[in-house]
Amino acid sequence: MPQTTNFAARIGADRQLWADFNAICDCGGRLAGTDSERKAFALLEARAEAASQVTARSMTVPYRGWSAKRASVRLPSGHWAACHALVRSVATPPGGLTAEVIDLGRGTPEEFAVHADDIRGRIVLVRHELMFAAGTIHRRRKYMAALEAGAVGFLIAGPIPGQTVAGSSGRQNGPGIPAAGLTPQAAATLRRTARGWPTATLVIETEEEPAQTRTLLFDLPGRTEEWVVLSAHVDGHDGSESAMDNASGLAAVLAVMRALASQVKDFRRGVRVSFFSVEEWALTGSAHYVAALSQAERRTIVLNANLDSVAGSGNLAALTSGFAGLEPFLLRVAETTGIALRTVRPLMQNSDHANFALAGIPAFRLVAGFDDPHANLRYVLTPSDTRDKVEVSELKQAALLSAAIIADACNALPQDVLAWRRARVA
Ligand SMILES: [Zn+2]
Repeated sequence: MPQTTNFAARIGADRQLWADFNAICDCGGRLAGTDSERKAFALLEARAEAASQVTARSMTVPYRGWSAKRASVRLPSGHWAACHALVRSVATPPGGLTAEVIDLGRGTPEEFAVHADDIRGRIVLVRHELMFAAGTIHRRRKYMAALEAGAVGFLIAGPIPGQTVAGSSGRQNGPGIPAAGLTPQAAATLRRTARGWPTATLVIETEEEPAQTRTLLFDLPGRTEEWVVLSAHVDGHDGSESAMDNASGLAAVLAVMRALASQVKDFRRGVRVSFFSVEEWALTGSAHYVAALSQAERRTIVLNANLDSVAGSGNLAALTSGFAGLEPFLLRVAETTGIALRTVRPLMQNSDHANFALAGIPAFRLVAGFDDPHANLRYVLTPSDTRDKVEVSELKQAALLSAAIIADACNALPQDVLAWRRARVA
């Protein structure tokens, strides 16, 4: 059995972890297609090679490139306020889109349903909500509901005073409606009054062209052909450091590589480290990777551990994607490390683990601050997703738990691994 105490000592003494985290934040927000993203890939490639003595394999990932050249909104007062074009938003006509705004509050299915007759031809306004919580309604679902009800635009108000909110619009290839994030103050001026619905003008200028990014893979072979895939996404949003989401996961992966690299050759299974991009583009990088695997290759992957937003709170949760059989294993490893872990079972398609799970591969996302509205994770997707929201102790805890899970998964008995695929616990 691997020695958890060894990892604890190694990760506890790992000063490179904090340095890596800061260096990744120094690259900027890492929006796909920007120099910031390219710089982060170069940094990760060098540091992961140094951590593992393994040379990277690079897979080209084609995607629909998109960037926003300009985004602003004219409020009923006549004042132009800053807004943040959501990723892959369509552009407005050059003179802007002028329409009445209907505020649907949080934007629940009930609110959309009872206002079905009011939405057509108007801009829908909803609220951003804590993403890492049970029952959260993803921005993508609200956008789709607005689109289907005939809205001509989509606005989402952020939670932090004075700050806009970013994120992906949820638009796939093809038509869509202009979509942008607002400050809560701007949203407050868009309330309905006795005179009727307020009018706003939204201006979004974009550029779209075919683009390429990559997936970086590091194979640390074990004694058999089987693999445990450890993943984290590189890309983020401009306007912040994308520190919690996901410099934290990237830095933790590098620390796990340093802690385990010399031992993996003696493990039953190997460790494949995957740095994905265009996660913020509807999980495109990991979808491309999983789709390229043959059935035989899929069967050799026993587990995907996906680290996404693993610091910003000391509380860790594993989103187990419906793989109930995986939960006793994860909880046992957590107990041996002395780190409290909560398991959350519903499949949440909020990060790259979802593509592994949908292909039948046991997969979980490690995330910090789940269900805690006061955790710093509430700043994710705002300009306040910066390094000061993260404690070095949180990064070390996430790295230690991940290293222990990876090592034990690599050495688990074949019959135990079979149990991970079960959707029910016997
Ligand atoms: Zn993320």
